[in-house]
Amino acid sequence: MDVKPTEGESFDTEFPVVIIGGGACGLTAALTLKGSGTAALILEQDAAPAGSTALSSGFIPAFSTRWQGARGVDDTLELMAGDIQAKAKQLADPAIVELCCNKSAPTLEWLADRHGIPFVLIEGFLYTGQRRARMHAVPERTGAALMARMLAAAEAAEVDILCGAEVTALYADGDGRVRGVGYRRPDGSQERLGCQALVLACNGFGGNAEMVRRYIPEIAAADYFGHGGNRGHAVHWGEGLGAEVRHLGAYQGHASVAVPHGILITWAIMREGGIQVNVSGMRFADESRGYSEHAVDVLRQPSAEVWDIYDARVHEMAMEFEDYRQAEAAGAVKMAADEAALAQSLDLPEENLRAALAQTQGLAEDPFGRDFTDKPALAPPYYAIKVGAALFHTQGGLAIDTAARVLHKSGAPLPNLFAGGGAACGVSGPEVWGYSSGNGLLTAVMLGRVAGESAAALLS
Ligand SMILES: Cc1cc2nc3c(=O)[nH]c(=O)nc-3n(C[C@H](O)[C@H](O)[C@H](O)COP(=O)(O)OP(=O)(O)OC[C@H]3O[C@@H](n4cnc5c(N)ncnc54)[C@H](O)[C@@H]3O)c2cc1C
Repeated sequence: MDVKPTEGESFDTEFPVVIIGGGACGLTAALTLKGSGTAALILEQDAAPAGSTALSSGFIPAFSTRWQGARGVDDTLELMAGDIQAKAKQLADPAIVELCCNKSAPTLEWLADRHGIPFVLIEGFLYTGQRRARMHAVPERTGAALMARMLAAAEAAEVDILCGAEVTALYADGDGRVRGVGYRRPDGSQERLGCQALVLACNGFGGNAEMVRRYIPEIAAADYFGHGGNRGHAVHWGEGLGAEVRHLGAYQGHASVAVPHGILITWAIMREGGIQVNVSGMRFADESRGYSEHAVDVLRQPSAEVWDIYDARVHEMAMEFEDYRQAEAAGAVKMAADEAALAQSLDLPEENLRAALAQTQGLAEDPFGRDFTDKPALAPPYYAIKVGAALFHTQGGLAIDTAARVLHKSGAPLPNLFAGGGAACGVSGPEVWGYSSGNGLLTAVMLGRVAGESAAALLS
């Protein structure tokens, strides 16, 4: 994954703008460029674009959208940016947070109106730290459906996508101006393509075990649930060009993936009053903090496996999620009439399990300081799923400005290099606790939009 000098190189052909990666970020950038009449080509290594976007839940946060308006949800920039920064302990770049928030409603409404991608507002629960219902999804509520709809929009708009093109090298001048890329075709042949601007939409380094061990060792033992092809190329190329990389310790972990089914179990279960207990039947942390940082605590438990415990009310709510329905169909969800039956069914010490449930019912002091009074207490019959922790995607990456231009270590933007989504430093601060639900697709879609606009402006 080299950066090579341009000198002496010739390119087989040229496209004004090249985009590396065909996930949510790359497709949004390409649709934007298409709309501005600027020719662009997506280079995607896979046989068909999917990326982590297709594996995700597909929830995108946005404030002041017409879908919120229709449901009477009054949301503001201050609330949304404030929530993101509160989760990140005020350590995310405020200009990028504000940019992504301000772009959120106009971009989703543009995708709906111009490209026929319908959105619905997710209601019924709030993710940790979010004071308003602001998650939007396509009606199917899955990342696979979001990706399918984005690809259909790209096809309708005649976006150029070359699949089976794994970019292996950038060619750049001494001042950091990118002149082209080299890529490998499925038969092993190498081709070169010139460009006047390059957009890095190739996500982060979750699929690179060595980088994960180096930058985020505390989650290295967890399974990676994102796209395996996201191997940190943007960071390597950026470093080769002298770019600043930031917050490589930031990532989205998840504390609730069904074992052994590998199905994401919505954290809404915890938000609605559920708890997690380890194989000793004991709670081990405050579940209300958020699924990302909780993942590290799950990994520290014996066998790194724990149980989600909740009740029929919470089960009914969870049935609204496709993943949860799949888990139920796969036999992951257990039900028990009372505490004794639950302990026996899960093979947990009954005394400890009773003590954990008593904490949720206000009958015993909660050692982790969680407030259980805002939801009805858990009541029999009980439900349970065995879960483990996972790494979903990394949030650190290339530092960018508000035009999505990649910044050199000097602070100046590189001449014609843009980044968004997991390729760029996100809005989650430096560590796992800073991830606010939706930060992944927020920066993929909104920064893809900005990168497309900026690349078009550069060439106009
Ligand atoms: C299980 C799960 C659930 C999630 N749920 C949510 C959610 O609900 N909301 C949210 O905001 N975020 C969620 N995320 C995170 C979200 O999926 C990512 O943040 C987002 O999809 C990133 O988009 P992207 O376009 O940057 O990357 P991707 O969608 O991963 O696309 C990158 C593309 O680049 C290609 N590529 C990489 N390197 C090269 C190369 N050298 N040459 C050519 N192509 C290359 C890859 O093949 C890939 O297709 C979830 C993640 C997971 C794993």
